[in-house]
This record gives sequence, structure tokens and C-alpha cells, in this order.
Amino acid sequence: MNIVLIGMRGSGKTTVGRRLARKLDRELVEMDELISKRAGLAIPEIVEKYGWEKFRDIEEQVTDEVAERDNIVNAAGGGVVTREQNIQELKKNGILVWLKVGLNTLLERLGEDSKRPLLAGRTQREDMEITLDERKALYQKAADLAIDTEDKTPEEIAEAIIKSLKKICCLIGDPVEHSLSPLIHNAGYQALGINYVYVPFRVRDIKRAIEGIRGLGIRGASITMPHKARAIEYVDEIDRLAIETGAVNTIVNNDGILTGYNTDYHGALKALEEATSLEGKRAVLVGSGGAATAIALGLKMGGAKLVILNRTEEKAKRLAEMFDAEDSGGLKKLDEVSSADILINATPVGMWPKTNESLIPKSLLHNRLVVFDTVYNPKETKLLAEARERGCAVVYGYKMFLYQAATQFELFTGHQAPLKVMESVLTQALEGEKDATHFDRR
Ligand code: NAP
Repeated sequence: MNIVLIGMRGSGKTTVGRRLARKLDRELVEMDELISKRAGLAIPEIVEKYGWEKFRDIEEQVTDEVAERDNIVNAAGGGVVTREQNIQELKKNGILVWLKVGLNTLLERLGEDSKRPLLAGRTQREDMEITLDERKALYQKAADLAIDTEDKTPEEIAEAIIKSLKKICCLIGDPVEHSLSPLIHNAGYQALGINYVYVPFRVRDIKRAIEGIRGLGIRGASITMPHKARAIEYVDEIDRLAIETGAVNTIVNNDGILTGYNTDYHGALKALEEATSLEGKRAVLVGSGGAATAIALGLKMGGAKLVILNRTEEKAKRLAEMFDAEDSGGLKKLDEVSSADILINATPVGMWPKTNESLIPKSLLHNRLVVFDTVYNPKETKLLAEARERGCAVVYGYKMFLYQAATQFELFTGHQAPLKVMESVLTQALEGEKDATHFDRR
């Protein structure tokens, strides 16, 4: 997990970066230095000899390489934000911190710096004024954090960054590009006017990512595929529900002590309990992976009688033993549904793009059944559409997603999650994107 300092030349990226790197015990990487090394020329000479476009091309190559590194402080070049591709790369594993500064301060700081290249035919003032004007919106759009640097010493700016990191929450998974978690968490923060920020990181090495959370003092993380099971090894304390489900989907950092939770359990239970009571009900759970495990625990705690069915029969049997289920087996036993009160699909069957699939024959669905599909893209799966046609009560998968995120929100911020706002942005995104895209992960 990297810290990437962005901002105008003269905004103090290197000076602040040096202090930040020392405080966080990280290496400082200066992108301009790497560009210079690669070209074998100083920056003004590259621009003079080859022009700005060529300079930007070299910068793009260097950006790709630096973005692959981990646990560094990166003082990026002032114009790195002019190419969207650079931002996308840096964001995959980096928190972008914009060092904000006004024109006069910039000019004061750059007064002695005559070596920096000016854009053709401009004075230093004209050059800075025009560039600052053009870049402001780009920095703002790219930045996860914006730090006002006017009237602050580099030491104070570094401290301000470290303090802001305590309000960063993140998503850790691979892939994360289509995740809706940033959308709903950030909408919640904005609705409450609290200065938290939620950023996604594509993470291959979960151990290093968790070290990064600890080292940077990041407030918390949502953990998604494929890291939920392994995350449990690297936290300091584990909530009882996470132990029982064998998976951590949430990490909270309290002054360097990392605690792992599983909020899928809460999400599934709350979604189900909105539609039905559980005590004494017969529930057929289809699937035996991570989601099924959290749901099985919820059903058991709620007092339901469990039947667990799975494509791979042994896994169903293992889960049935863990949660003392009444029965278990392969999918050939699906006719158990005809005598059940609750049916849950905890497999990806029906998910975009194979939306025309369902594991459960329509003929087994009866009007006393509550049907919960954990798949939430599309919102209305084939299973849920058929269940409604047959007069069943239905529970949408997006509700589980919403409620598990709300529990995370509360663990991260200590504030009650603004559910209406979070639900509204979530359902709008699912409706708006249903024909175009295919996010399924958190
Ligand atoms: P997982 O650990 O990989 O487990 C997948 C389960 O689905 C396994 O039991 C697997 O059976 C079964 N399965 C996969 N493909 C199948 C197929 N073609 N036919 C029959 N069974 C099949 O995944 P997970 O984390 O449990 O997630 C499962 C699904 O739950 C996800 O795809 C997602 O849609 C949903 N989910 C929703 C939420 C939410 O908040 N709404 C949260 C988590 C998950 P085998 O054991 O035979 O491989």
C-alpha cells in the first residue's frame, strides 16, 4: 500500500515525502529522478530535446513500474495527473494525497529554482498560473485526500497526512474494479458529513496489505475474494463470529490492534429476518462456500432447522456437521425444497452474465416459501422472478450486501449507517448498470 503525493511542482512533494517516509519507515521514491535516470538526461534537457509529449511517455512507463511497488512513499511528478492511465495505475495500490498550495506560495518557493522547464514562451508566473488553473480539477478528481499546505511546515504537513490516514477505510480484494463498496460507503460518509474516505485496492498479497494497514494507521478494511479465509491469520484479535465462519471480511484498526470481523453473517441474517422469523423453520441452503457458511451460522443461531445441499456433496456434509444440520447432500436432493419454509441460493448461479440460469426447478417453489438469493447482480435473478411468479416471498441479495456494509460502516466510524442513502445509491447503480456491466464482488 503506497502513499502517492501529487500536486504542482513546488508544492513540497519531495520535502514532505522525505519526512513522511521517515515517520512511516518507508522508502521515498521520486518519480522525476527515475524519469531522469531512464532518459540519461535532466528533466529540462528531456523536454528541450524531445518535447513534453515524449517526457509524458517516459513518465507513463515509470508510473507503471512504480505502481507495482509496495509500501513506498511516491513523490510523483506535477503533471502525472494529465494522463488518466497514470491515475488508474497509481490508485490500484496507492492512496493519492494532493498537497494543495496557492499561486503566490508556489512562486515564492520556486523563486530560486530556475532549472525547471517552462512551457513555451511564458514567464514563470504565467506558466504557473495557467498550469495551476488547468491542473486543479485534475488533482481534485484524482485525490483520495487533499491537504492544505499553506502556512504549514513540511513536518506539520507530514503529520497532517498521517492524521488523515486514520480516517481512510479501504477495500482489499482482487479484482475490485467493479465493486460497489466504495460507492455506498462514501455516499454514507457524505450523507453524515464525516471526513472519512473509502478507497479500493487491488491486492495480491494479503499479508503485506494487512501490514500496510497497520503501518499506515488506516482505520479499517473490507476484505473480499479471494482473501477472506487467509486474512484471519494476520489480525491480532478475531471476533467470535469470524472464528465460527472461518472468514474475516472486515478489519478494524484500533491504535495498531487489528480485529477481524465477519459482517456477512449480520447482513444475511438481517435481510432474512425482514421477511421471516427463523425459529423452528425448515431452511434449505444451497451452496457450501464462504457465503453459505455465514448464512448457515445465522440460520442456526436463529433457531432454524437446516438442510444443506451442494454440488460437491462432501462440502455440504462438512458444513452440516459444523452447524448440526438435520440433513445434507448433493443437488439431487433439491426436492427437499417442496417441504421447506425457506430456500437460500448461496452459489453464483444466476449471476451476470448467465442470468438465465437457476439451480432450483420452478415446480418446487410453493407459495409458503421465502426465497433468498445471495446473488445481487442482477437484482432480480431468474430464481427470484420465478419465486415471485409462484407466490413466494422474496429476499434480494442486495439487501445482504447493504446490511453487511452497514455493519462495517458502524465498526469503522462509530456512527449509525444512513441506510436509506446507501440503499438508494446501491439500487440505482444496480438498475443503471444492469445491461452494461458485471460487478459481483465486494
Ligand atoms: P465460494 O466460497 O466460492 O462458494 C461457491 C459455492 O457455489 C460453492 O458451494 C460451489 O459449489 C457453488 N457453485 C459454484 N458454481 C456452481 C454451479 N455452477 N452449480 C452449482 N453450484 C455451484 O463463494 P461464496 O463467497 O460463498 O459466494 C457465493 C455467491 O454468493 C457469490 O457468487 C455471490 O453471488 C454471493 N454472495 C453474495 C453476498 C451478498 O452480500 N449478497 C455476499 C457474499 C457472496 P462447489 O463446492 O461444488 O464448488
